[in-house]
Amino acid sequence: MQIPFIDLKKQYHLHQKEIQKEINEVLESSQFIGGEKLDRLQKELANFTGSKYAICCSSGTDALLLSLMSLDIKRGDEVITTPFTFIATAEVISLLGATPVFVDIDEQTYNIDPKKIEDAITDKTKAILPVSLYGQPADMDEINMIAKRHGLKVIEDGCQSFGATYKGQKSCNLSDIGCTSFFPSKPLGCYGDGGAVFTNDEELALKIKMLLNHGQNERYKHKYIGINGRLDAIQAAILLVKLKYFPKEIIKREEIGKRYSFKLNSVATPFIKNDRSSVYAQYSIRLKDRDKVVKILNSKGITTAVHYPMPLHLQECFGYLGYKEGDFKVAEKISKEIMSLPMSPFLKESDQEFIIKVLNEIEEQ
Ligand SMILES: *Cc1c(COP(=O)(O)O)cnc(C)c1O
Repeated sequence: MQIPFIDLKKQYHLHQKEIQKEINEVLESSQFIGGEKLDRLQKELANFTGSKYAICCSSGTDALLLSLMSLDIKRGDEVITTPFTFIATAEVISLLGATPVFVDIDEQTYNIDPKKIEDAITDKTKAILPVSLYGQPADMDEINMIAKRHGLKVIEDGCQSFGATYKGQKSCNLSDIGCTSFFPSKPLGCYGDGGAVFTNDEELALKIKMLLNHGQNERYKHKYIGINGRLDAIQAAILLVKLKYFPKEIIKREEIGKRYSFKLNSVATPFIKNDRSSVYAQYSIRLKDRDKVVKILNSKGITTAVHYPMPLHLQECFGYLGYKEGDFKVAEKISKEIMSLPMSPFLKESDQEFIIKVLNEIEEQ
């Protein structure tokens, strides 16, 4: 018996007919880029988050890249972010020639520590790019306040937190710009690559729409240097179906997350602040003896993963930034102890009880 890390098959089979019908409509229409389904999806995504504008694009990475481009982030600029995230968050800053400036994380939530941000601000700083890691929004009020004080923009990397709430507001609608990913294993996933940018600023929205289509404002008139960053119509069609069922899935995710946290005896479970919710893109626990526990779980058919085993400031590709071991002690410590358990709205209760039992037995030995 194998318990999958994320069960995408069950979800597909549940909505198979509807998804295939939507895909077939795209095939029959031969409108593979843009079109009515994309327009409808963007409206529904905007409604879902409460943002004025939702602009779909080719991936979460491109959503971040387009956001930075829309703010004219360029060589010589600095962008403050967390070292404890997926590579894409900082990669896009470097791609534009700007410098990622890392700030350590909070030991309880694993999100960027707002108390440490102001020390990292210089006259080159242009933006703050917090990540709502594992599905829990970062401390956005504190971050927005700091940004306001220093005239900076805030982009939320909500690639893991789409559907989460913060003081009653939806993630991706908590700052100047919010970005998410529809990578298949994210809370709301499509069947390939996809992403979206959210904003309430009309000017930024228009610019981002142009940037993702080679900077065009009309055909063959290029106002900006842009990219090919479009979401295709088949992915939009799939997302339209999946978005309908997403609110129910969020409830299931929370139920499963809370059951883990309630029943796991002696490991550090996620700390979710009481003014926000998590969509548990990952359900991650901390263990002193991670390697041993991973081996036991895997031998019993329980799939695990580590998000993330090496903080970004120690990655080879960022060697040129000159960081060294010891620079961000909390991120370094967490990266050695963290481990993610199977999580999806379709995780069977009996499978979850088995995972809990195995873990509780190991820790009691
Ligand atoms: C997945 C992810 C991204 C990138 O999204 P893609 O759609 O894979 O490009 C960026 N940031 C974080 C925090 C992510 O988890």
